[in-house]
Amino acid sequence: LVCLTGVQKHYGSLHVLRDIDLEVDRGEVIVVIGPSGAGKSTLCRAINRLETIDEGEIAIDGQPLPQEGKALARLRADVGMVFQSFNLFAHKTILENVTLGPIKVRKKSKADAEKRARELLDRVGVGHQADKYPAQLSGGQQQRVAIARALAMEPKVMLFDEPTSALDPEMIKEVLDVMVDLAERGMTMIVVTHEMGFARTAANRVVFMADGAIVEQADPETFFTNPESDRAKDFLSKIL
Ligand code: ATP
Ligand code: MG
Repeated sequence: LVCLTGVQKHYGSLHVLRDIDLEVDRGEVIVVIGPSGAGKSTLCRAINRLETIDEGEIAIDGQPLPQEGKALARLRADVGMVFQSFNLFAHKTILENVTLGPIKVRKKSKADAEKRARELLDRVGVGHQADKYPAQLSGGQQQRVAIARALAMEPKVMLFDEPTSALDPEMIKEVLDVMVDLAERGMTMIVVTHEMGFARTAANRVVFMADGAIVEQADPETFFTNPESDRAKDFLSKIL
């Protein structure tokens, strides 16, 4: 479903993505981990074309990433993204935050968009907050709205870049629970996270990045109990 081949990216003299090959199948849940500066966020941003690449190819469903225009807007709609900061529109209600994209990009009617938005808000446990504004919600609630907003676009794949790292500890679980539920429903997901519990329970595969490269990848059980590279061993010894 998502296929990266020979992807290279530099920021000036800094080589941030080194020859990245990565294939993600439909329904697969990939957790990307690695030290700060490894290029994890850059990878996510490249998949959503928020960032250009210097070489290589990224394809979604066999379609190479378009460069611009309508095709790019459609691609963005196919790739849901949830960031560390919730990025909700502050001056729109929760319901409006979730219906805006489907109405504008997917050309849904307001009634259809609202019906679906309410279902999704219920599913992530904030249905009763639909008429409030983002600032009236807790961080965990806002992040669940951000997930509902991304899902409302009916994406083919969801990217998460450290979705819980800006949250207070007691709110992390409620967001992870929503993500686990999404994984169980068969959503294709690429998740950058330090939550190793999530990786163990929900991931089909762990991808370990360092210095812009994929150093190793394996199923979580193998990766956590028997990492191959020294870089991964060193990283795990610091976080586990
Ligand atoms: P973290 O765990 O801290 O989020 P990361 O793995 O997500 O790290 P990236 O944010 O992808 O790492 O950054 C990879 C490298 O690229 C870092 O060295 C970073 O400083 C650099 N970098 C990121 N964005 C830019 C930019 N817009 N211009 C220049 N350098 C950048
Ligand atoms: Mg990052």
